[in-house]
Amino acid sequence: LAESGLFRELNRLMPGRVRQNEPMSRHTTWRIGGPAEIMAEPCDGEELSLMLAMAKKEALPCLVIGAGSNLLVSDAGVRGLVIKIGKAMAGITLRGNEIIGAAGAKLAAVATFAREAELGGFEFSAGIPGTIGGAVVMNAGANGDSIGILVKEVALIDPEGNPFSKTRQEMEFGYRSSVLQRMPGIITQVTFSCHGREKPLIQDDMADYLARRKATQPLGYPNAGSVFKNPPGDSAGRLIDEAGLKGLREGDAQISTLHANFIINLGQATADDVAALMAKIRMVVYDRFGVELIPEIHMAGFED
Ligand SMILES: Cc1cc2nc3c(=O)[nH]c(=O)nc-3n(C[C@H](O)[C@H](O)[C@H](O)COP(=O)(O)OP(=O)(O)OC[C@H]3O[C@@H](n4cnc5c(N)ncnc54)[C@H](O)[C@@H]3O)c2cc1C
Repeated sequence: LAESGLFRELNRLMPGRVRQNEPMSRHTTWRIGGPAEIMAEPCDGEELSLMLAMAKKEALPCLVIGAGSNLLVSDAGVRGLVIKIGKAMAGITLRGNEIIGAAGAKLAAVATFAREAELGGFEFSAGIPGTIGGAVVMNAGANGDSIGILVKEVALIDPEGNPFSKTRQEMEFGYRSSVLQRMPGIITQVTFSCHGREKPLIQDDMADYLARRKATQPLGYPNAGSVFKNPPGDSAGRLIDEAGLKGLREGDAQISTLHANFIINLGQATADDVAALMAKIRMVVYDRFGVELIPEIHMAGFED
């Protein structure tokens, strides 16, 4: 294997943080996905730049992941290098009313940090899994807010390994979207602007949001949150529900009976099962309502 040369090289650079043929099912909240040829977890931007240079020399494709909570990985797995921005790169610091987080910090950890520092802004995010890198790429949101409004600046690395940065304006945040869904760039750090707020108020809001989630989302089974984006002025869950699709199964993948825009893994679901279910949902909803549902989840390792 030509790649095993890269594996050895990476292992010298970052011992203990490189794996070969690593099942992606261990790195997605759906617990689905075949092996990553090589997976490595950088601890900072410098290491990340070196990794990118090495992969480039071998002409290997690279995929970046955070916590894999918005990701469907194919059963065949992912060729090349999977760069996991996770707990090796997850520091959080405070500067006045600003919170600076490394991209692998969990959104929940940043929200807790903000609450302890009596800084408001992250309340909406209670219960959203994933890293802040993934959250910024997705402009993750709930309860009428999204993370983009808190972003002051984003530090990134381009595919050539060079650092650059983007302001909130330059991130072009939209509904579950940012410029990073249209151009390459790996987030290494995010600076958030928050505002002072008393801890008990923050705590109450977060508890409310969490309770609402627990009542309306099938959190007992592996899932990836909402599968489809809400069409303008409507809700994907409502359309799927009214099309009578709740409970529909393909293998061990099932449209949740609690929340129709969630697909749950009953145990042994494959990526093909989920993809087949998604195709069925899109077809039936289009036939019934003339609405084309757009996936919110990202897909990796599929042919097209
Ligand atoms: C139970 C549950 C509830 C959820 N509820 C919500 C919700 O209310 N609102 C919401 O918006 N989402 C929700 N989600 C979806 C998901 O949690 C968010 O989209 C989250 O922000 C994704 O972060 P992640 O680290 O898991 O990203 P991943 O799934 O790992 O990656 C998502 C995308 O970002 C890219 N990416 C990840 N990290 C980086 C980086 N550092 N630099 C560049 N690109 C990167 C990946 O390549 C991929 O394209 C939910 C998911 C679950 C499982």
